[in-house]
Amino acid sequence: MTESELAVGAGGVVTGPGVAPGNVAAGGHACPLRFRCLGCEHFSTDVSYLPDLHAHLADLLRSRERLMSAFEADEWARSQAMPSDEEIGRVRGLIDRVTTTSIS
Ligand code: SF4
Repeated sequence: MTESELAVGAGGVVTGPGVAPGNVAAGGHACPLRFRCLGCEHFSTDVSYLPDLHAHLADLLRSRERLMSAFEADEWARSQAMPSDEEIGRVRGLIDRVTTTSIS
């Protein structure tokens, strides 16, 4: 089982085969970043994950729109749930990179 598959079970995202040996050895329960794989040095992806990357980007944008609409929540909860510009930019950058790499 890859870390990405483990991340799905933990509510994470399938966007590439994570490669942190310690976490895999621990059955995916030792992730120090709580499965924020897109910002992790151990994360990698390739063109086979392009549909997942597009789906994840769409999810982030939908979540941001929902949270910006009339939705009752404490401010701390709303701000933690809000997809950041950095996360959205990271996914867009990965999509550009794997797309460019696959056609060059
Ligand atoms: S955040 Fe890093 S260490 Fe944790 S599961 Fe994702 S790739 Fe592995």
